[in-house]
Amino acid sequence: MTSMDTLVSLCKRRGFVFQSSEIYGGTGSCWDYGPLGVELKNKIKHVWWRDFIQQRADMVGLDASILMHPMVWKASGHVDHFTDPMVDCRECRHRFRADQLEETAWVHYCPATKGNKFTIPAGEPCSHCGARRTLCPDCGKGELTPPRQFNLMFKTFIGPVEEDAAVTYLRPETAQGIFVNFENVQQSMRRKLPFGIGQIGKAFRNEITPGNFIFRTREFEQMEVEYFVNPHDIVEGRPADEYWHDRWIEDCLAWFRRYGLGAENLRLHEHDRGELAHYSKRTADLQYRFPIGWSELMGIANRTDFDLKEHAKFSGKALTYFDEERKEHVVPYVIEPSAGVDRALLAFLVEAYREEEVRGEKRVVLRFHPELAPVSVAVLPLLKKRDDIVRTAHAIRDDLSRHVTAVYDDTAAIGRLYRRQDEVGTPYCVTVDVQTVGDTDKGEAADGKVTIRDRDSMEQMRVPASRVVTVVGELLGGKRWADVSAQIGRSS
Ligand code: ATP
Repeated sequence: MTSMDTLVSLCKRRGFVFQSSEIYGGTGSCWDYGPLGVELKNKIKHVWWRDFIQQRADMVGLDASILMHPMVWKASGHVDHFTDPMVDCRECRHRFRADQLEETAWVHYCPATKGNKFTIPAGEPCSHCGARRTLCPDCGKGELTPPRQFNLMFKTFIGPVEEDAAVTYLRPETAQGIFVNFENVQQSMRRKLPFGIGQIGKAFRNEITPGNFIFRTREFEQMEVEYFVNPHDIVEGRPADEYWHDRWIEDCLAWFRRYGLGAENLRLHEHDRGELAHYSKRTADLQYRFPIGWSELMGIANRTDFDLKEHAKFSGKALTYFDEERKEHVVPYVIEPSAGVDRALLAFLVEAYREEEVRGEKRVVLRFHPELAPVSVAVLPLLKKRDDIVRTAHAIRDDLSRHVTAVYDDTAAIGRLYRRQDEVGTPYCVTVDVQTVGDTDKGEAADGKVTIRDRDSMEQMRVPASRVVTVVGELLGGKRWADVSAQIGRSS
């Protein structure tokens, strides 16, 4: 499996992800998405929005504000319960999440080997003296303080005075923006249960131990759905909330599979009683095999009627739905599929990364799903000294860029240009050569065709320049290379 270091270095070198405020030494656990990173991220969000919101008749979208009324966070339980247990090392002052201590490797000065220093894998005892970790995992010397609860919300002030009355929080999840708009959306859009509201947006958590690149950061983006169902309905012989919970788990799993994550790298983790959040009837996490091991990619929770009831209680508004058939008001149950954009991006990167040997040379390639690749097509001139070749290549790129993400590059020889595009995962390259434009000195006529090269198989086909936009569109839309190639062969 690819190491995190390899990915971090590729991401920096090729403009995917940079350390935030790097020229000032960086800001802990904050990352900036570079030119290719922002394309990749936008494409993930675009296909998610298209597949889950636009293409489904039972879904609508929302973009709620990040700053909300402070009562929202009281009602939701975040002020009182959104905490992690924190411990400090009395020696080196490093902080840890108490519940994650056993998940990190630990430094040990082993008494059985005259105090030699070892780094012991997470959760294991020392193989020399058999001791288990009791001291700080980082310095191996300090005692740890007893755990204290630490609230993960970022506090801020609304308005020009920094006083208690003006305190609010940066949202730690996008979900609450949906709950407080339940009635607005249901009434303005005349929705009947079951229906869902989806939202993509930033969330902020003052994580005690952020890290592992973009896996755990303090500022991140979520793609969330709150799917409202009538708890009195029975679907296929089961309570509607349980039925829809399973459906959403299947749909989310299928979605990640569709965009490239391997079945062997995905698994479901059911929360047991001790792990379940106070509002949840059942939660299943979708875990991915990241370079740091199996870890949560997204969560799919049955939040019951907890949130709507709490907001009704605190706001004094009845957040109910009138069931026409039964002639009664009900508080809907909510199924919440919640995915992190950054974690999804990391998983797609991990899965796409390959090192291959091609004719005795190493080739690094990102095998992104064509719809996710930051650059869809690169147009490359074979000779940059020939004005007519360069002009034609620019014109083709301009045409393509009206439909897909297209770039032009002439800063190296063609072999090197192909490798560079492979390394950022560009599925197709279009090359303009002498034959395309002809060579009047040698009396060779132009054939008006360009070469399209496939990233994965490295196969090539000649296509009339006038058909490039259509052909690239078909390929990106999922039409098979062999079929497109056969069709071109028949028509030319
Ligand atoms: P974890 O157990 O990893 O802290 P969580 O269970 O608190 O995550 P949720 O509250 O279920 O996470 O949030 C939904 C999703 O949002 C997560 O599955 C993850 O993809 C993303 N997410 C949550 N916290 C972070 C973070 N600090 N950095 C990046 N993504 C995050």
